[in-house]
This record gives sequence, structure tokens and C-alpha cells, in this order.
Amino acid sequence: MDKDKIKQGVRLLLEGIGEDTDREGLIDTPDRIARMYEEIFAGLNQDASEPLSKVFTAQNTDMIIEKDITFYSMCEHHLLPFYGKAHIAYIPNGKVAGLSKLARTVEVFARRPQLQERMTVQIAEALMEELDAAGSMVILEAEHMCMTMRGIKKPGSRTVTIASKGRFADDAELRQTFISIAGVK
Ligand code: ZN
Repeated sequence: MDKDKIKQGVRLLLEGIGEDTDREGLIDTPDRIARMYEEIFAGLNQDASEPLSKVFTAQNTDMIIEKDITFYSMCEHHLLPFYGKAHIAYIPNGKVAGLSKLARTVEVFARRPQLQERMTVQIAEALMEELDAAGSMVILEAEHMCMTMRGIKKPGSRTVTIASKGRFADDAELRQTFISIAGVK
């Protein structure tokens, strides 16, 4: 990541809105944002194959669910946060991932300029590819600051996106089971 470019950009942005970039409260803002972006966009330099590379052999063929994984991402259209919960299910095919690795996988895709719809599909595809899963399903529920902050939608309204692959794509009953366990209304 090029921190100097980020700093220049933030300075220009502040000048653009008519701010005085030399005033006390703003003088360190470009540097603070550059350091913060290293963290919140760290997923750009990461790959889902990394958290999902540690697998265990297992014979269970019922779905494994990790729900209520809190995530924070940045809408790529407005560079404002969207955040909420991820619910993940997959049907193993001889391999299971450590449970904390599912949360790490969500983080890899959340920490980059993102669209909720794409992130949902990326997580579902990563589970299929990295774990050779027989099926995967991902539900994201999120509040988008670019909607609620600007008064387009009421605060607290959530956008829900769903992606299903493999057996979940073929089986409505399986999808319904996961949706009810995830508690999505
Ligand atoms: Zn947006």
C-alpha cells in the first residue's frame, strides 16, 4: 500500500470540501487515515486460501454452520462502512476447516473496497474451492452507511444477500433449514 498517495489524497479531499488542512484537528488526519487504511483494507493483500488451508479430515456429511460472525467492510461506491453479520454453512466432503478460520475468511473479503453482493458470493465460492465442499451457503445482513447516513433508508434497515452453491443451490429444503437456524427474518 502506498501511504504517501493516501495522505496526498486525503489532503486533496479536505481541501476540496473547503477545509483548512493545517488546522490542529486535521493536521494529522491524512497520516491517521493512511495507517487506518492499512488495517481496514488489509484483505486486498490476502487470499482466502490462507485461512482455509488448515483443514482436518472428517467424515460428517451434515452441514456445518457458523453464524453471527460480525464483519465491517467498506462500500466501494462511497467508501463508507457497511457492517453486520455473516452466517455461513457448508457441507463437508471429507475436509473441515477450523471454526475460527471461517470468521477469518469473512474478514479477508470484508477488508477491501467491496460490494455486499460480491462478498457473499466470494465467501461461498471460497468454501467450495478451498474445502472441496459439497455445498455452501452464505447470508450477509448489513447496514450501509451510504444509505442510512444520507437518509435514503431509515437507520437500522438491513440489506440481506444470499449465495448458495452445490447442494444448497439444488435443494430448497436445505436452504430453508439453514435460513431458520441462522435466524434471518
Ligand atoms: Zn455505498
